[in-house]
Amino acid sequence: MERNFDRFEVNPPGATGAVAAGWPPITKTGRHAPVAPNLLDYETSRATFSWEAARAELDGLPGGRGLNIAHEAVDRHATGARASRLALRCLAKAGVTRDFTYAELRDLTNRFANVLAQLGIGKGDRVYALAPRLPELYLAALGTLKHRAVFCPLFSAFGPEPIRTRLALGDARVLLTTTGLYQRKIAPLRAMLPALEHVLLIASDGAPVAVEGTHDLRQLMAVASDRYQIGPTDPEDPALLHFTSGTTGTPKGALHVHQAVVAHHITGKLALDLHPGDVFWCTADPGWVTGTSYGIIAPLTNGITTITDEADFDLERWYGIVQQQRVTVWYTAPTAIRMMMKAGAAAARGYDLSSLRFLASVGEPLNPEAVVWGEEAFGLPFHDNWWQTETGGIMIANFPAMDIRPGSMGRPLPGIDAVIARRSDSAVEIIAEPNVEGELALRVGWPSMFRAYWGERERYDRCFSDGYYFTGDLARRDADGYFWFIGRADDLIQTSGHLVGPFEIESVLLEHPAVAEAAVIGKPDPVIHEVVKAFVALKDGFVESEALRRELLGLGRSRLGAVIAPKEIDFLPDLPRTRSGKIMRRLLKARELGLPEGDISTLEQTAPPQEAP
Ligand code: AMP
Repeated sequence: MERNFDRFEVNPPGATGAVAAGWPPITKTGRHAPVAPNLLDYETSRATFSWEAARAELDGLPGGRGLNIAHEAVDRHATGARASRLALRCLAKAGVTRDFTYAELRDLTNRFANVLAQLGIGKGDRVYALAPRLPELYLAALGTLKHRAVFCPLFSAFGPEPIRTRLALGDARVLLTTTGLYQRKIAPLRAMLPALEHVLLIASDGAPVAVEGTHDLRQLMAVASDRYQIGPTDPEDPALLHFTSGTTGTPKGALHVHQAVVAHHITGKLALDLHPGDVFWCTADPGWVTGTSYGIIAPLTNGITTITDEADFDLERWYGIVQQQRVTVWYTAPTAIRMMMKAGAAAARGYDLSSLRFLASVGEPLNPEAVVWGEEAFGLPFHDNWWQTETGGIMIANFPAMDIRPGSMGRPLPGIDAVIARRSDSAVEIIAEPNVEGELALRVGWPSMFRAYWGERERYDRCFSDGYYFTGDLARRDADGYFWFIGRADDLIQTSGHLVGPFEIESVLLEHPAVAEAAVIGKPDPVIHEVVKAFVALKDGFVESEALRRELLGLGRSRLGAVIAPKEIDFLPDLPRTRSGKIMRRLLKARELGLPEGDISTLEQTAPPQEAP
């Protein structure tokens, strides 16, 4: 269907099926589309799309030596006139902005690859980063990919416990961090991490690093060659390891391979609508998969300028960045949008944000008010899209040329077969009927699908049935193929864009001598989506008190880091359990929210059984 990009209108209520959700759809004819969207017509694109054609947009390593993410992101743009284009602009919290052209990025990432080579790091070894959004983090990511080692970024806001678990699980051989973070968080753990051979320090004040057992990254980079030939890279060679939370057990390390770059590239083009000349700002930290797939890879493979900011959310700073950097495409998260909403649309009008062309959001449900508020504040709606660590890239999106149904995640990427399904031990039932709740599942076979949970074959296999990957999200599909998020099928908590596993938090609370049992839930919050709330039962001989509550909150913050630590703790005489001994977090949540308790037939009313199932 031909689209007219000169007009923009909001359908009157009653015009289409999305009205069922209470919000009229936003018909995208695009007064804000000075360029025609890359995906001009959804149905045509779905009918003609192939992953082979998407792969053909990339170069591959010279001489047919395979497919390497860093070559596609950097080196292929670093020749001829394109070499002097601005690739990466790193804004500092305080101090100097650092710019890198594609040619400079090539040379510096070559140096980092050579540093790894000199340290004896080989193909497939894990190189971790625990660093703020400093330029070195980005150079390390791309340099590691060139060297065909596996890059694993962690949130620098994590406390020592999640850091230790993740470094140990992935057998980190190298860690890039700052002097301050090393001294506070890593040095006390070092003896517990025998596989960690090399720590590369970024000196925060520019002074030489002199910390025992570490290397000064700058010194190593200074003497390393800026020439490096990327070795043959099989598209299936491991490239990235991203940890995500599990409901039970340890965090899961989702492993991605080099050919994930095909999905990063094409989703950057079709779902984020990246065009030559764009200035793109993805506000996510690379410690979350979004900050790597879209904060680093997708904008660079598309040959545009990507902005990073070391500082955390600050309304004036953010609007100032969009204004000064003339950001054209902005990719952020619902929590941030809701924080902007709290300040009101008038706050945005004090800035010249006219450079913006496309706004997108991911990570949690984006409420319809937020989609529409984008129009009020920026003259553009937010486009929600859906994906997760395991999928490696955007799977479902409100594409630029498509009508937005506020509150919906959009429609599947061309090339992605998304269904609503139910599965039992023996069978998978695909639900064809619209508007029926089920689990969101994706037909296997897209390039950025995770290839393993690190070291956990069985856990990985459990995600798949009958040729589908089961996402753990509950959703419904309407009659026009738009997907609507309902909730998680498990107990995972979504807080400020982080997916948090209750088990990791409960384990830390259980370390306190007074705590007999702990259960953690997500309690709805208007801004950060869910607040982490813990319920604690004390051991005999301990009495609840405000001082103890504060002590437990403090324990959480110091061990887990402020982002994922519980913000509220309630004491209960004991916690509801199933007869097989599992704590019923769902019941605690229902009670907390005053909702029906549902099926409690398995509730154990007395003490938990002695034997685990
Ligand atoms: P993560 O792997 O940390 O990126 O978290 C992925 C999870 O975040 C998904 O399985 C969803 O539960 C949630 N999520 C991501 N994007 C959306 C969205 N657009 N709407 C609702 N939930 C989302």
